[in-house]
Amino acid sequence: MTERDNTPKPVGKTGTSLSGSFRQQFRAASLWDHLASPVRVWRSKISWRITITVFLTILTVQAVIMFVTASDFKRQKLYEMRELARVFIISSLSDTSDPLSAPLTQEAADRLFSETMISGIAVYGLDNNLIQIFGDTVMLRPAADAETPLQQLSASSRFYEVSLRAQELRRPYNIVVKLYTAGITPMLNQHIRQSVLIMLLLSGLVTSVLMLVLGQWLLEPVMVLRNNLLSAAQNPEKPDVRRPRRETRDEIGIALRIANDLIRQNAHNLRKLRSQAEDRIHKLAYYDNLTGLPNRTFFLEKLDDNIRHRVAEEERRLAVFAIDLDHFKDINDTMGHEFGDKLLEAIGKRLVKALPPGSLISRASADEFTAMVVLKEDNPDTATLVDRIFNAMAEPVSILHERFQVRVSIGVAHCPDDGMEARQILKNADIALNRAKEEGRDTVRYYSEDFDLAVQQRFQMLRDLRTALDENQLRLYFHPQFDLRTGQMIGAEALLRWWCPDNSKEGGRFISPADFIPVAEQSGLIVPIGEWVMKTACKINKQWQDKGLPPFRIAVNISGVQFHRADIVALTATALKESGLDPKWLELEVTESVFMENMHVAIDILNQLHQLGVELAVDDFGTGYSSLSYLRQFPIDRLKIDQSFIRNALVNNDDRMIAKTIITLGHSLNLKVIAEGVETVEHEEFLKSEGCDEVQGFKYTKPLPQDQLREYVINHTKAMAKTNPPRAIEDKGSA
Ligand code: C2E
Ligand code: MG
Ligand code: MG
Repeated sequence: MTERDNTPKPVGKTGTSLSGSFRQQFRAASLWDHLASPVRVWRSKISWRITITVFLTILTVQAVIMFVTASDFKRQKLYEMRELARVFIISSLSDTSDPLSAPLTQEAADRLFSETMISGIAVYGLDNNLIQIFGDTVMLRPAADAETPLQQLSASSRFYEVSLRAQELRRPYNIVVKLYTAGITPMLNQHIRQSVLIMLLLSGLVTSVLMLVLGQWLLEPVMVLRNNLLSAAQNPEKPDVRRPRRETRDEIGIALRIANDLIRQNAHNLRKLRSQAEDRIHKLAYYDNLTGLPNRTFFLEKLDDNIRHRVAEEERRLAVFAIDLDHFKDINDTMGHEFGDKLLEAIGKRLVKALPPGSLISRASADEFTAMVVLKEDNPDTATLVDRIFNAMAEPVSILHERFQVRVSIGVAHCPDDGMEARQILKNADIALNRAKEEGRDTVRYYSEDFDLAVQQRFQMLRDLRTALDENQLRLYFHPQFDLRTGQMIGAEALLRWWCPDNSKEGGRFISPADFIPVAEQSGLIVPIGEWVMKTACKINKQWQDKGLPPFRIAVNISGVQFHRADIVALTATALKESGLDPKWLELEVTESVFMENMHVAIDILNQLHQLGVELAVDDFGTGYSSLSYLRQFPIDRLKIDQSFIRNALVNNDDRMIAKTIITLGHSLNLKVIAEGVETVEHEEFLKSEGCDEVQGFKYTKPLPQDQLREYVINHTKAMAKTNPPRAIEDKGSA
């Protein structure tokens, strides 16, 4: 970075809001700093204003003085001329004391005219009678009394006539002389010029001195203050606060000191605020608010750091754990968010305790924690660490007076074994975690490349599934359901089949709904697929009825995604309307998970569906998170015991008990209970003895395509006429 780059940039509101002219001023101020102080003074606007004002004031005062002195000067000069003329006249008069004789000769008069400024003479006697007259005509008369003016300036100011009295002349005559005044004007001009020059010099000197004095005591500190304020505006956090060269204790000096203190204080406060804000932002950006643990961003940065130093340089191994709370969403929804939050806090603390010091534990998302441990001599190996995590969760968590058993699924990836890039390793740990969740939860999986392959395959499957939908590769099979007491066929479950064409000898293969439904759900593709299933199932059932088959219910599976993301009520109504099927011959199967997402919405939707007249069944009952206490609120008709309980009922006492409980519970709620997965006579016997109402399973038939189901129904109806209980038929082309 160059020094220029280092100059602090405007920060925050104050900095960025500097106006253009303000910025220019600041630039000018920087230039200013480089100029010497006297120059500064002369460049300042205020200096100029003061200078001009003082200069003009002095000039005006002097002009007034000059005006006054100029007329004095002229008067003085005229007086001097008069005195001179008097002296000249006296010296030219004859010594006679006879008031009637002529005192002036022609020669004397001529001499006076040629040698002095006198151009006319009139001699009067004491009684003012004219005795002699020489030269230019004289207009003035000798004064008859004291008030009459004794001198007179001609209109053109070229001539000046003065009356000299007998007392002044010390002779018995009054003489009036005419003086030529041409010499006075140049003298007056000279006088004015000199005065103006002096005036200017004086004004200049006074203003210069004043400016220097002002510069030192007023402008210099004001300039420093101005520059400090500009610097504070430009860079409020680190202003360049300067002191004047000479600090004074006068009003300006004190004001400057206070302003500087304020600027510094403000800068200090701003720096403090910024550092607090930065701390807070750092906390928000890198830490989880709830648990106080680092978040995913922090974890990734630290992981990256560790890969570069501990793995690449020190050649150590790292274990990265992705830890997910099983069924956290259900817990959160049923127990409330406060409970969920407390649970997460408790889990965070347990994880920190379980893992060795120096491990990094973070909360990566709502219910996922990640941990990183450097595998060194004094740390246990990964398997032991996993055990420690499970052990930490073994003890139930006590929250709000409730003891709660927490289970977690763990995915593990290693560095460098499973990658040398932070995101990649975390992703691999997540892939392993997903695998752990898919394979029954409450377990651990170590990342293997096969998992990644499985993820790739899922993407491929999704692409293929889109094609399947477009190219009608989806089919519906039907799995009959029977009344256990009478053996009568009372319904059939519509089950999706995907015949995916490939290059094999068979020309294609069936893909199990168990494989593609989760992919369709994750991608949202289940919505158009579900729509197709619903409409097709209704249409086919109506066709069967129209072709004379005894009517039975068709059960359609509704995925949770479809239930909450699509308008299932509208879809059902449309499918019924388009097919013309009576609503009582349609049943919708939803799983318990549907109730969990948003119980009130779920109840509302189920009510609306019920109002349409369709039946509602809870599929795979017993496998979801227990919501038995809420069951009463749901408008359902049927509980469908999950096939795993039926399959194990005869070998596992717990499952047997669960199946029995579900039947009792269902009946206590006035619900029908249907069991699926009935494969053997023993299963059937068990269910009969427990009073189960309906059955579905391979004991009777595998799911059948449309045509074969029709045949099956016809045969079954015929057989029913002979024997009562439902009977197994040979498997004909089942899927
Ligand atoms: P599900 O709704 O519980 O369907 C019952 C599954 O159990 C069916 O498997 C059926 O063939 C199988 N089954 C029934 N009785 C027996 C038995 O006695 N022995 C054995 N081994 N299996 C039995 P399928 O057809 O593979 O379907 C698997 C799951 O795929 C279904 O479970 C359902 O969750 C889903 N699925 C199937 N079709 C659809 C559909 O149209 N929409 C949605 N959303 N899901 C569907
Ligand atoms: Mg089902
Ligand atoms: Mg089921």
